[in-house]
Amino acid sequence: MPDKKIALVTGAGRGIGRAIALTLAQEGMFVIVNYNGSAAKAQETVEEIRKAGGEAVSFACNVADFNACGEMITALVKDYGHIDVLVNNAGITRDNLLMKMSEEDFDRVIAVNLKGCFNTIKHLSRQLLKQRSGKIINISSVTGVMGNAGQANYCASKAGVIGLTKSAARELGSRGITVNAVAPGFIETEMTESLPDTVKTALTEQILLKRTGTAKEVADVVAFLASDAAGYITGQVISVDGGMAV
Ligand code: NAP
Repeated sequence: MPDKKIALVTGAGRGIGRAIALTLAQEGMFVIVNYNGSAAKAQETVEEIRKAGGEAVSFACNVADFNACGEMITALVKDYGHIDVLVNNAGITRDNLLMKMSEEDFDRVIAVNLKGCFNTIKHLSRQLLKQRSGKIINISSVTGVMGNAGQANYCASKAGVIGLTKSAARELGSRGITVNAVAPGFIETEMTESLPDTVKTALTEQILLKRTGTAKEVADVVAFLASDAAGYITGQVISVDGGMAV
């Protein structure tokens, strides 16, 4: 059993999740790299952590599956005895204008982005209450605050994550557990690379710093919230958006 803090990061095979996993490992945590579809990508994250001298394992689980999340948490607690940090990062988009959006695309995005956070928090909360410690960080989005044409499903899910974060913070705070959300703006990852150049330019124009953000810039804020230095911060939504939503 590793003599380290244990962090579970969902969707950590690539993008922001991978950067978070790498950064938490650099901070000395043992990282569980969760993935759903891409085992090879998750293994790349694990190898990168190990090459840098850290410790990590990968764990497959579809966060939208309530029972599978329960089984994952049970297995991790059995293997490691405790979980100290949960980062709910897994997320998807299925963009379309409301008029054209299918029910399936609405439901799928809510199931992964919002219910996925509920599933992991619900199954982990009993263990955290027993530990009387723990840090939960949910990745929301600036669009959960601002809304965005063509992303009603995604924005609704990310606004929901903020409500879930604040409620969980209220329920768990008396036992020393903090729950916060990070709301990234426009970050360069696979999720945003398919956007047309015209949209990218228009979005960048709205950013006070006039540039996109990096996954590492989000990961550094998550690492801070996961650290003892952030022990008196809970129920907050921290924007990492270059001033997109001031
Ligand atoms: P990304 O590159 O598309 O990566 C998404 C990750 O989520 C992948 O590792 C994927 O793993 C995982 N995932 C998807 N469905 C899953 C499921 N059902 N169960 C477990 N894992 C699942 O996206 P990203 O840009 O890094 O985004 C990460 C988070 O930041 C998301 O919550 C996103 O909404 C949020 N965010 C991103 C931006 C941005 O500009 N990029 C802005 C604001 C917020 P598999 O491939 O294994 O399925």
